[in-house]
Parts: sequence; structure tokens; C-alpha cells
Amino acid sequence: MLHSPISKIDLDMRIFYIKRDDLIDSFLSGNKYRKLYTLLQTSANKYSKIISYGGTQSNAMLAIASICHKKKWEFIYYSKPINKKIKEQTFGNFYLSKKLGMKHVEIESSYYKDYVSSLRLDLDKNTFLLDQGGANKLAKFGIDILAKEIRESNLDIKSLATPSGTGTTALYLALALPEYKIYTTPCVGDEKYLRQQMSALSDIPENLIILQAKKKYHFAKLYPEFYEIYKKLLTTKIEFDLLYAPLMFKVLLEKTEENILYIHSGGIFGNKSMINRYKNKERQYGK
Ligand SMILES: *Cc1c(COP(=O)(O)O)cnc(C)c1O
Repeated sequence: MLHSPISKIDLDMRIFYIKRDDLIDSFLSGNKYRKLYTLLQTSANKYSKIISYGGTQSNAMLAIASICHKKKWEFIYYSKPINKKIKEQTFGNFYLSKKLGMKHVEIESSYYKDYVSSLRLDLDKNTFLLDQGGANKLAKFGIDILAKEIRESNLDIKSLATPSGTGTTALYLALALPEYKIYTTPCVGDEKYLRQQMSALSDIPENLIILQAKKKYHFAKLYPEFYEIYKKLLTTKIEFDLLYAPLMFKVLLEKTEENILYIHSGGIFGNKSMINRYKNKERQYGK
């Protein structure tokens, strides 16, 4: 693959450079492409089945579904019970993943945790289990390639930013690029939870800087200030996701001053349902 390009944008009087990993592939974009790179390079006859679990709006789920579709692997995805509305949607990650052949299995909430931990117990050699969000040590190899591209871009910048879910991307990027500062922020859970998830993969290096917003935000909830940032970013002609990017940019605007290279992690298929929710909310409050 060719190196993904780098764009330059203005946001609130600041310059940001954007590593356009969103342009890599529509379903398999951004850090999901990087994290799943090893799986994508794996020969189709090595596995017959991939198992994963997590949220049904997940970008990782869609990325895995897209790989399994290409490789003709069966893909089984476990989640807690989901509502009828998501099942009936004809857009978004869940719909697209099902179209790509994903088999979805709902597990009763009270059994979910035990069920998920039992998945790894009886795997045959043709089945590969990917932990939620693609948080796997194999992610290192794809992220090393991203790191090499960043180094070779010869931008005069020594600070990078990427928002965290599992923290896998930020962690491996920081390990691969010790001469850079890597800013991240926890979008799912708090800093403690993020550190726990990262520590399961490796020691956390010092150049990884976890920034926290002044206010506490909950994942996938609606915040007018996030929608504002999303719309401002849209005027730069680049669409960002509505779950992770707005919070990361907000924190960067609040807490940093230097020029930063932001890793665009794709994930914009979830935007449509988020935008619908924002518009409903605006109508409700008569904005
Ligand atoms: C998955 C995802 C992240 C979080 O990546 P982690 O490696 O799990 O921290 C950030 N941004 C977007 C758009 C994503 O899809």
C-alpha cells in the first residue's frame, strides 16, 4: 500500500496536520486497518473462523467483518442484547457488518462477562479469537508501519495525537516512536481503565501522555460541544467520527499549544445515527 497522505487544517486558530488513514479503505479504515494488518496479511487457509465480541456500533466489528468477507472466513460476533432499532437500521456498522456475513449472537447481560472469558477456552486451531476492539499484541506490526510512515514524512513535528478506546493504537505508536510525544485521551471509561487496558499489552512508555478533559464525558452520549467541533472540522473538507475525534480535539485545544499531527482513525459510518440523534435533540430543545 502507498503511504496515506497528510493534510493540513485550521481549527480555532490552530494548525493541525492530519494523517489520512481514513482514506485507506472505507470499511477497513484508520487504526482498524493498522491494528488488523497482520490478520489481513494472513493466508486465507490459516483460519476458517474468527470470533470477537463487544459493542454493535463498533468500528472494529465492521473492520473484522470486512476482512472475513475478503478471506471467506466465518465471523461470529457476541454482544449483550441489543435494541430493535439497531436491528432494523439499514445503515451503520451493524447493518454493514451483517451484510458482509457477520453472524451476531446476543448473550444475556448477566452472563456476558463469563461467557466472553470462556470463549478462549475451547478454541480449535482454525479459529482465531480477537479481543474487543482488536486489542491484541499482533496490532503492533501494523502500527509499526504507521510509525515508519510518520517518520518518513519528514514533517517538522514532534507531537502526535490519537484518541483512545482500548488504547492499543496510542500505546504501540508511543513504543514505536520514542522521539515523539503521543497525546491521547480516554474516550471509553476513565484514565485508570485506559491504563489497565494498555498495561495488559505492555509497559506504558513515558512519551505517552494521557490528557483528560475538564469535564467528564461518557462514551456515545450526546454533547453539543462535540457536535460543534464535528461541524467546524467538516468545514475543512475532512469528515471525522463523532465518538472519538471531537473529544480528542477538544482536549488538544484546551491543553496543548504546539503543532500536532493527528492520526485520523476513520470510523465515520457511525456518524449517520449520531447525527440523527443530535438533530432530534436539537428539535426537542427548539434550537
Ligand atoms: C477504534 C477507534 C479508536 C480507538 O482505538 P484504540 O486502539 O482502541 O484505542 C479511535 N478512533 C476511532 C475513529 C476508532 O474507530
